[in-house]
Amino acid sequence: MVKIGDRHQIAMVILERDPQIAAVIFDLDGVITDTVYFHYLSWQRLADEEQIPFDKLTHDGGMLGLNREDALCYLLGDRQIDSIQQQVLLKRKNDYYLESIDKLNNDHLLPGIGNLLVQLHAAGVKIALGSSSKNAELVLKRLGIEHFFNFMADGHSVPHLKPAPDIFLYAATSIAIEPRRCLVIEDAPAGVAAGLAAGMWVLGVGPFDRLAQADLVLPTLAGVGWTDILAKLKYCVS
Ligand SMILES: [Mg+2]
Repeated sequence: MVKIGDRHQIAMVILERDPQIAAVIFDLDGVITDTVYFHYLSWQRLADEEQIPFDKLTHDGGMLGLNREDALCYLLGDRQIDSIQQQVLLKRKNDYYLESIDKLNNDHLLPGIGNLLVQLHAAGVKIALGSSSKNAELVLKRLGIEHFFNFMADGHSVPHLKPAPDIFLYAATSIAIEPRRCLVIEDAPAGVAAGLAAGMWVLGVGPFDRLAQADLVLPTLAGVGWTDILAKLKYCVS
């Protein structure tokens, strides 16, 4: 995890990064596709069956970014359950989610991702996934883009998830590219912190004020090619 006291150490790592980027490691949710709506639908179905008052406003206001256990606690409010009941409810929610993402297809790629993957592949840049999602591989298959990926690190890969750097370091090791030659593409502050802590370049996609720690921030990848990213990155660090 990035701590205030580590800033000097991280700065030293960043200075050693290599501008000859040889791999791109993508976050999944919010970068490649947006599964938030499908998560909402599966929580809503569980809430309706359990007769818990719930709606999209409640979901977006309190559950975004929580892991599945904490999200269930939030949904249940004051209702107490034991660990077996917790596992049963989480399994039901995940089953509903898997059912809902059956509807995912190539149309659900976020703007610009399809072109960027094609360009990276053509440029000989390795492509990996670094996602905390436990269903990441299935989502990539449904989107029809899994063949672009040299390696997929997901929520099963490492014990410490973002903002720990572990998932990105694990992905880099698996594709045999040094961290200092990897670029992480992320939409969340915790992911940006994880990429920097791994000693990698980081491109944030989304609002600047949320991702200001990244080397480069773009509001979207729509119309952005690989050469554009390299040029902007070079400009930002020179
Ligand atoms: Mg994300």
